[in-house]
Amino acid sequence: MFLGELKEPVTRLKGAGPATAAKLARLGISTVDTLLRHYPRDWEDWSRTVPLKDWSRGRVCTEVKVLAHDWFGAARMRTLKIYVEDETARACLVCFNRPFMERQLPVGTRCRLYGHFYYKYGDIQSTAFEIEPSGSGGLAGGGSAGLSGRGFGPIRPVYPLTAGLSQNILRDLVRHALAQFGPSLEDELPESVICRDGLLRKPEAMRAIHFPASQEDIEQAKKTLMYEELFYLEVMIGKRAMQRKSASSGPRSAASGSLLQRRLLDRLPFSLTPGQQEAIAEINGDMDGPFPMARLLQGDVGSGKTLVSFLAALKAVEAGGQAALMAPTELLARQHAETAARLLEPLGVRMAFLTGNLKISGRAQLLKALVAGEIDIVAGTHALFSRDVEYRNLRLAIIDEQHRFGVVQRQAIMAKGSTPGLLMMSATPIPRSLALTVFGDLDVSVIRDMPPGRKPVRTHLAKASNENAVYEFVRRGLDAGHQAYFVYPLIEGGDESDLKDAVSAARRLAEEVFPSFPLALLHSKVDEEEKRRTMDAFRRGEIKILAATSVVEVGVDVPNATCMVVEHAERFGLSALHQLRGRVGRGDAQSYCFLVYADSLTEDGKTRLKVMLENSDGFVIAEEDLKLRGPGQIAGVEQSGYFKLGLADPVRDMRELARARDDAFAMLEADPGLELPENRRVAEVLELAPPFPPAAHEPNIPAKSSGKGGYTF
Ligand code: ADP
Ligand code: MG
Repeated sequence: MFLGELKEPVTRLKGAGPATAAKLARLGISTVDTLLRHYPRDWEDWSRTVPLKDWSRGRVCTEVKVLAHDWFGAARMRTLKIYVEDETARACLVCFNRPFMERQLPVGTRCRLYGHFYYKYGDIQSTAFEIEPSGSGGLAGGGSAGLSGRGFGPIRPVYPLTAGLSQNILRDLVRHALAQFGPSLEDELPESVICRDGLLRKPEAMRAIHFPASQEDIEQAKKTLMYEELFYLEVMIGKRAMQRKSASSGPRSAASGSLLQRRLLDRLPFSLTPGQQEAIAEINGDMDGPFPMARLLQGDVGSGKTLVSFLAALKAVEAGGQAALMAPTELLARQHAETAARLLEPLGVRMAFLTGNLKISGRAQLLKALVAGEIDIVAGTHALFSRDVEYRNLRLAIIDEQHRFGVVQRQAIMAKGSTPGLLMMSATPIPRSLALTVFGDLDVSVIRDMPPGRKPVRTHLAKASNENAVYEFVRRGLDAGHQAYFVYPLIEGGDESDLKDAVSAARRLAEEVFPSFPLALLHSKVDEEEKRRTMDAFRRGEIKILAATSVVEVGVDVPNATCMVVEHAERFGLSALHQLRGRVGRGDAQSYCFLVYADSLTEDGKTRLKVMLENSDGFVIAEEDLKLRGPGQIAGVEQSGYFKLGLADPVRDMRELARARDDAFAMLEADPGLELPENRRVAEVLELAPPFPPAAHEPNIPAKSSGKGGYTF
């Protein structure tokens, strides 16, 4: 039997009544399989003695004698303190909610103590401890008399808990479940892999992860179960790639059909960079190919991704279809719509702009035109894919700044066309480890170069107290006819905050610092109509200074703006800072970015500012970000649950991941119909981020020689 098939409710296990079951449910445990997959977050080693004097090294595990009892606190809140000593030191056990310990541990008792200690009020103290009579428990192998000695082995699992549930309740339940069901568990990994890597058999692995006999046992169990998770994940990804490749992309565009693209290129005052050329060639290849495109276009801020996406849209239009371009903010969506109108309408392309804020009548008309096929390209926010929006023939969905979108929106898009091509764009590089997992069936294009003539932005760090020097510098830029951004971490300050906020800072800038330059305020609470007017005026150069929050972070493209001042820069993450800096340096003039920081800086803040000062390459900055913050924090990653596997972490375990991928794909190739027993965690991870709709018909494995595509990365 496979673990995933153990659907017996936990209430069948001895010791799990309705009250316990309700608490378990809060941990997501309802059945035996979910219980057994509730892996320990740590293990306590009761066999290795760490005396009290070494409390600061982590856990203490030692034989102690009870010296005295004491009580503190008022009447009903009285709390027991028990003083104990071993051969090295004295310590105090604070027994919150455990008054009964007074009777269990009379003065003079000898017992074994396990716990985490800290130093307070002159004592070595612990509130998180367990105690057993000397010689019981794992040490003497099993007496279950008294206290909490229950005959667990010397190494005990420490589970994630919820209120009202104790480690020992869970330990008991797991032990019962293992005794009853463990032996009949079947392996889920292929025999060949188990033998090759010396992994544990499933019953052994489950026992060892919960009740290991040694540290080595833990390592073996982890290795086995992690590999199993990664293998599952990759099998699922492989299957998904197969499904995509088995869907048809609809009538092919005429292979030579890049007339519209040609005409746009002819009208541009510049030529494409080599990176742009390569990207569009790959995209054209996809769109002429037999499968719906699923491509991620990566390129640093300012590398010209928008233009590439317009070219892709033209190809879809030329093939008789429609294209939708989705941006994360209304500001950016509108900018795209306007640029597209300027560049594409002269070619006879019919453009539209759709957001959630459209007036009802206008919206109804627009929706009608969309479904009638009277609109070729529509730009907008996620409103593009709301339920009532229908397309006549959506051939291409473009997602700009894809990391800003949740998976829900991605799903909604794919539900629109029969199988529209998907082009996702991002300036935030996806680490390779993620690329192998959730994005594992995407093709990737990278634009590595910048349009010619760009001068790298010069970055300066400035202490808040030296801000006047920054103002003077910005003033010179303004005098020369350029424009500037000032960005703040808050819209409006509360009393408790000593941060500068956009609203009051804007007032000060306008009244005291730059009274002769027109200034406007922009943040998420400004209404859309005013936002639009402000942005238009800024773009036309009528407004010289934009005081804003990070709403200007993504996409905004105003080449005449040459100064970016970020106040409280220490408050912003690396990717936000990089994006903000990318708002300048878009024209021919030398641009500057001032990162103004608080006089008191945390180490972390210091490191981030240093990274910004020393690097301009977004890919390098993203790597640094990954190092500093850890993989779970990458923009867009937390919400999508990429890291909710049980034990494995695709970033940390990248080498294993790559191997699991090879194994999984080899197996799929041999047996395309491969079915795996259910693994809820893996299923959830994938469910959260499926870029592709399930194919309507049977998947079939692509021929090995199909060359490029989802399998290779
Ligand atoms: P991003 O990749 O950050 O989305 P954009 O698409 O906003 O970058 O492009 C930044 C600017 O570069 C725009 O003003 C665009 O018109 C310009 N641009 C794009 N491609 C080229 C090119 N090949 N040569 C010169 N300028 C270009
Ligand atoms: Mg962009």
